[in-house]
Amino acid sequence: MTMAEEKRTEGSSSDVQPFQADVAKLLHLMVHSVYSDKSVFLRELIANAADACERLRYEAIAEPRLLGEDVKPRIMLAIDAQKPSLTIEDNGIGMNRDEMVEALGTIARSGTKAFLDRIEVKQNGEETALIGRFGVGFYSAFMVSERVEVISRRAGTDAAWQWTSDGMGTFAVSPVALKGAPARGTRVVLHLMEDAKSYAERFTVERLVKAQSGHVPVPIAIVEKPGADPAEITDGAALWAKPKAEIAAADYTDFYRSIAGQFDEPAATIHFRAEGRQDYTTLLFVPGSRPFDLFDPDRKGRIKLYVKRVFITDEAEILPRYMRFVRGVVDSSDLPLNVSREKIQESPLIAAIRKGATSRVLAELERLADKEPQSFAKIWETFGAVLKEGIYEDFERRDVLLALARFKTTASSDAWRSLKDYAAALKPNQTAIYYIAGDDIERLATSPHLEGFHARGIEVLLLPDPVDSFWVMPGVSFDGKPFKSVTQGAADLALIPRVDAGKASAADVEDSVKKFLAFIKTALGEAVSEVRPSDRLTDSAVCLVAPESGPDRALERILAGAGRLSSAAKPVLEVNPRHDIVLALAALGDTEQAFKEDAAHLLFDEAKLLDGERPADARSFSDRLARVLWRSLGKGGA
Ligand code: ADP
Ligand code: MG
Repeated sequence: MTMAEEKRTEGSSSDVQPFQADVAKLLHLMVHSVYSDKSVFLRELIANAADACERLRYEAIAEPRLLGEDVKPRIMLAIDAQKPSLTIEDNGIGMNRDEMVEALGTIARSGTKAFLDRIEVKQNGEETALIGRFGVGFYSAFMVSERVEVISRRAGTDAAWQWTSDGMGTFAVSPVALKGAPARGTRVVLHLMEDAKSYAERFTVERLVKAQSGHVPVPIAIVEKPGADPAEITDGAALWAKPKAEIAAADYTDFYRSIAGQFDEPAATIHFRAEGRQDYTTLLFVPGSRPFDLFDPDRKGRIKLYVKRVFITDEAEILPRYMRFVRGVVDSSDLPLNVSREKIQESPLIAAIRKGATSRVLAELERLADKEPQSFAKIWETFGAVLKEGIYEDFERRDVLLALARFKTTASSDAWRSLKDYAAALKPNQTAIYYIAGDDIERLATSPHLEGFHARGIEVLLLPDPVDSFWVMPGVSFDGKPFKSVTQGAADLALIPRVDAGKASAADVEDSVKKFLAFIKTALGEAVSEVRPSDRLTDSAVCLVAPESGPDRALERILAGAGRLSSAAKPVLEVNPRHDIVLALAALGDTEQAFKEDAAHLLFDEAKLLDGERPADARSFSDRLARVLWRSLGKGGA
């Protein structure tokens, strides 16, 4: 016993503390939950018990005395229908006082935090379905309990502690006598609410365990009334070690749920054993829906690494970052059991596993894309934005990822198109794969930049994810064709015939228009680098494009927003030389200088607005607009 613990034991009065604010919020949600399936609490408590057993096994590799005589992990459920109460007990690692206060008084998981943030913006009702789909941990016990008691003794210590709470804002921690505590591990006693007393019936509990926790890798037994003998419900065998032929789809789903803490159906299951130079088994899942923290910069992969069935770590980064949504286990027969968690990253064995597992995931995605396009489209819809990160992060697999990538395009209406589809629809003389990037797919689809492409029947990829601006970089190509932003450089469309035939190209522009464009440049001065006639526009009067080299307009906005761009490149203002307004303004010749100057600025601001930006100077914008309106009412002008 440490000195600090001794002191507290002496005092023996119980220490009452408030929950951290986030916990209080979560508890409020649990206690007032109208969620009809409260039974999810059981799988959460069983998962914690199993985690505790696995952590003990790992620590005991370095410190065998922690295990002592009691080497077999187990989870025991005990019910007392009289009280009514349900007890979940494990012989795992246990908690000392400080660990208890920390673990059961705060929220550490980023997923839970993200979950709470989501709830704040949601109406009551919808949130409760979320509780069912995503594990929310220990506190779910309060959905069914009036009071929860946790009695724990950490492995290798001589003190036991009790934590108790009614979930109403505070908890109390006090020392307990060793004879009233498990010899090692944790006992969670739920004093059940009146309407939750069915959780003190053997039939209900057994059915739930089989349905929710049937593949937890620690055996689970039940004691049906005080004094009865334990009866085994599940054997704790590792599912991944069984032959595929003996595993039913429902077993996979159950296992996925118990390790992913996500309660949907997996969208893909990848189970294989690698033999030969490397022996390892892998069971991986692509989840059916997005975890809340998918884009949390701190989110790591969540693959559990085992060595000969002993859990080692879930931080071994078995899969690359752009596969961070994949959940599952890898069990190696070759790694030494006493490998340290820190060293593991550098092990050549891990490097080989990493490579093998990554290729298998990609191969399965390719197979689905080919054989089950519907299921693949759903996976892409959910995780495509993450997979695309691999196009710039993983040079070796870039081509595979580009071939897997799916896009909404100007030709797809709502379906997903592959680059292969795109390449098959190239127009004669088309030398690039055109895209438009931004953050709102609706606005992209109606952008004036697309008009000249529409007129020529050229397909344009619509790229709405922030990552898109990064992977479409110079050097990336598909089928020998580079990617080119429609908001960048000259459009080079003159060589591609228009489908609506006839109309002249930007090359032949009336002299009066040329003079007017020069006038606009003078009026706008340094705000634009150039004013030129456009091949891109057919209906709109103006649009802004980026110079030929450097970032395209969407990337520039992202970089500027992140403070990563010191001086933004000046845009080019492209003007439609056949637009009625442009022609009429040009026809004014040298008259009406002031009016033309207002018009030049308003056209520039219009182009900015169409890009989702603001006019450079709101005050002069509104003054100019007022003057032009006034004039159109016949009040001003010549
Ligand atoms: P999570 O399991 O995701 O960490 P929980 O809310 O389920 O979140 O549990 C919070 C923490 O409480 C755990 O991380 C663990 O440290 C501790 N804990 C809960 N149950 C047990 C147990 N049976 N044995 C040891 N520690 C436990
Ligand atoms: Mg948990």
